[in-house]
Amino acid sequence: MLTLSSITKDYPTAAGPLRVLDGVSLTLATGEAAVITGPSGSGKSTLLYIAGGLERPTSGTVELDGTNPYALQADALARFRNREVGFVFQDHCLLPQLTVLENTLVPTLVGDPDPEARDRARVLLTAVGLEPRAHHRPAELSGGEKQRAAIARALIRSPRLLVCDEPTGNLDSQTAETVADVLLRLQARQHTTLLVVTHSTALAGRFERRLAMAGGRLEEA
Ligand code: ADP
Ligand code: MG
Repeated sequence: MLTLSSITKDYPTAAGPLRVLDGVSLTLATGEAAVITGPSGSGKSTLLYIAGGLERPTSGTVELDGTNPYALQADALARFRNREVGFVFQDHCLLPQLTVLENTLVPTLVGDPDPEARDRARVLLTAVGLEPRAHHRPAELSGGEKQRAAIARALIRSPRLLVCDEPTGNLDSQTAETVADVLLRLQARQHTTLLVVTHSTALAGRFERRLAMAGGRLEEA
């Protein structure tokens, strides 16, 4: 379960602190999926990063299955980000010199040896339809294939939480639909808690639980 309680976030600016989040609370059950929409600059990415342990809130608490990442020491926080959370961004962020298989394995290169990682990567690449591309480099893939590889990489550690920031933002509508299919199928299969930010009404429409960010607040849409 993911619980965000009374989250505020202020960014320092020349004109003084800018309050981007003004008391956001949200609970997602384990395996639940929700989408967040809202105008550009409304704090959607900030909220995702806070939920995923990447950005410390100014006040309020985050708990993922009982762990508050911001109460952890630096090494435990790094481990939390690596093991418990998967991230998918608008830009795939694949490493150009590595193959699809190697990119998928990158999160497993940190920490204790993970001898089953290669088998899991193969299973994931098959699930996202990229097994035939396992030894290709990102430059040889289409935009949708790159995002599917990014999804496989995000899930290689079987994270408790998957956060996706505009995962189909760079894709045409047909490709976006395929990527959404893959994302939602794997999320259901792995029973991962999922939080997605999007501008796409087509993608948002595929979620039962829809939230809207405005004025620093999050409301059920
Ligand atoms: P969204 O994802 O909804 O477009 P963001 O969370 O990226 O919104 O940003 C919300 C607001 O916070 C914007 O006004 C943005 O300029 C500001 N902001 C984001 N990151 C920083 C930062 N590191 N320093 C100062 N202001 C920031
Ligand atoms: Mg954003």
